[in-house]
Amino acid sequence: MTKKIVVLPGDGIGPEIVAEAVKILEKFREEGLDINLEYGLIGGAAYDETGTPLPAETLEISKQADAILLGAVGGYKWESLDISVRPEKGLLGIRSELNLFANLRPAILYPQLADASTLKAEVVAGLDLMIVRELTGGIYFGQPRGIRTLDNGEKQGFNTLVYRESEINRIGKVAFDIAAKRQGRVCSVDKANVLESTELWRETMTTLSKSYPDIELSHMYVDNAAMQLVRAPKQFDVMVTTNMFGDILSDCASMLTGSIGMLPSASLDENSKGMYEPIHGSAPDIAGQNIANPLATILSAAMMLRYTLDEASMADRIEKAVSKVLDDGLRTADIYSTGMTKVSTSEMGDAVLAAL
Ligand code: NAD
Repeated sequence: MTKKIVVLPGDGIGPEIVAEAVKILEKFREEGLDINLEYGLIGGAAYDETGTPLPAETLEISKQADAILLGAVGGYKWESLDISVRPEKGLLGIRSELNLFANLRPAILYPQLADASTLKAEVVAGLDLMIVRELTGGIYFGQPRGIRTLDNGEKQGFNTLVYRESEINRIGKVAFDIAAKRQGRVCSVDKANVLESTELWRETMTTLSKSYPDIELSHMYVDNAAMQLVRAPKQFDVMVTTNMFGDILSDCASMLTGSIGMLPSASLDENSKGMYEPIHGSAPDIAGQNIANPLATILSAAMMLRYTLDEASMADRIEKAVSKVLDDGLRTADIYSTGMTKVSTSEMGDAVLAAL
């Protein structure tokens, strides 16, 4: 049956980088991959046309889709808007409406780019870790929340960190299943010594691990995890953690690799339907110049082929093609170093296409 893919280019560099990933999907379609691409509006672009960052039509086609390929949202132009209609609201909205509770963020350091990391090459060379972040629960969504005025007239901001056992179990399962296809190790990150909600997180992960006898489970407090990520990141295989801890740790892990222009991500629901997007934002400072790095988006398309479309060999081909263009010395400006060949967004996309 034809798989429906919704393409949401979004704002800033979004349309430029998404176009390069689409070229590759189109090539696979010519080779026989049974997919249908449909475009939609999201973020600032959607606000400008419809007055909302997540139009009903976008949500409707996305709900019917098997997978979504997203560029990025946001930009200076929309920063002064009310928070309820800011571009980022469109992104948070689609994630929760589609119940995309599992965020997969690989941090892989291509050996060709070891010098791009701010850490010593021997600390990061060969790094291949997967952070599994809970995405629809925890403190970003917990109620009550707000800013209130106390009796003495002082203002107080408050948020609520809540996790149910079922939420912990379902994200735990994703992490254990992924570890089974990798090195078989899961490190669960919490703050169980201080926060009851993550004490429950730890207990639930421990119980769940009994159903996965081949996977080694360890636990780590988030402060130590942050330290270990920059001290010896290669000790980790799969890390699983809460929404807020994952937000912070995954950005830290991504910078171990040198460029955020290289890293893809996936957000999955219970049936492996997924939204695939680069981890970086809309980079308004370089938008429209054909200089952005499209590789994170191209690698996001590879994740789509692997996790939703069940086409692991096509995903492998993309990943190998990316490695080949790096071997050939092609670099966009963000990963350029002396002696390499500087290429534009579209030239990089064409080179990957040719290397397939
Ligand atoms: P950003 O990731 O857009 O940019 C940070 C820096 O990295 C910039 O200097 C940018 O030029 C560079 N960069 C990012 N992607 C690149 C690429 N593919 N190639 C080359 N260089 C790249 O983060 P920011 O500047 O903090 O945010 C800009 C806008 O993006 C804001 O409106 C923010 O809210 C939004 N944002 C969106 C997402 C998303 O859509 N998922 C994520 C983060 C930020």
